[in-house]
Amino acid sequence: MGRVSGKVALVTGASSGIGRASAEVLAREGASVVLTDVRDGEEAAAAICKSGGKARFIRLDVTSESEWRDVIASIEKQEGRLDILVNNAGIAVAGLIHELALEDWRRQMATNVDGVFLGVKTALPLMRKGKSGSIINISSIAGLRGAPNLSAYCTSKGAVRLFTKSVALECAAMQDGIRCNSVHPGLIETPIWSQVVPGSNEPMDLDAAAALRVPMRRKGWPDDIAKVVLFLASDDSGYMTGEEVVVDGGMTVGT
Ligand code: NDP
Repeated sequence: MGRVSGKVALVTGASSGIGRASAEVLAREGASVVLTDVRDGEEAAAAICKSGGKARFIRLDVTSESEWRDVIASIEKQEGRLDILVNNAGIAVAGLIHELALEDWRRQMATNVDGVFLGVKTALPLMRKGKSGSIINISSIAGLRGAPNLSAYCTSKGAVRLFTKSVALECAAMQDGIRCNSVHPGLIETPIWSQVVPGSNEPMDLDAAAALRVPMRRKGWPDDIAKVVLFLASDDSGYMTGEEVVVDGGMTVGT
């Protein structure tokens, strides 16, 4: 038996990076996984199926309430239940505050904040039918403290942190069996870093950054986060809700 056998999981932003690794780990541990992303994810789902897991892909832009409704309806019809929701899709808008366009600020909030709100709002009714479930929102260490050049991103991730706690307490008050926790990754090697250096198509040198800033002296890999997502998705974390789990090689411990 895997640690999430028999459960149905939905992962957003699952074509790449942390989302893809989370989908793979959940499937390996027995979940039936619905991968979603704004970009194509058929290959990611097919790779999981090829290695013996259960997965399918549905295109979903997390900023669209109607697309969320369609995805949840499809899961209710096909899988019949939803136990795990991983709100992972995100973008990073960089720029100095006095130069930041309002439209870019709103684009940041639309994906990172509205997307998480819409996911929880739309998925809760189906999750509640199962009388238990786990929602995992991917925030960031940028949601715990500020950073120059990243005000919009930090603001969005701080919002995810507190939204998570509100969801946790609302679900606990309703005694619906649903837990909600946030994960706060540090420097993880994924394509998102190319967005952090404006105008660059090259990923930032995370090894150099990690040597300077990470006490464990290494960058993280998507799997480092996926394994924590698995723990929060599984019944092993059954008494945890509203918690913020930092996975950063010690970066924020001394600050
Ligand atoms: P990736 O860019 O590798 O993956 C994010 C995925 O989400 C991409 O496929 C992206 O597509 C997709 N996406 C973007 N916008 C939307 C949307 N509106 N609807 C659906 N999918 C969308 O980045 P990561 O794996 O690094 O990021 C995953 C999460 O982890 C994000 O929330 C990020 O903020 C967070 N995080 C990452 C850290 C890191 O060091 N990598 C550190 C802390 C937090 P596209 O490529 O087309 O944009």
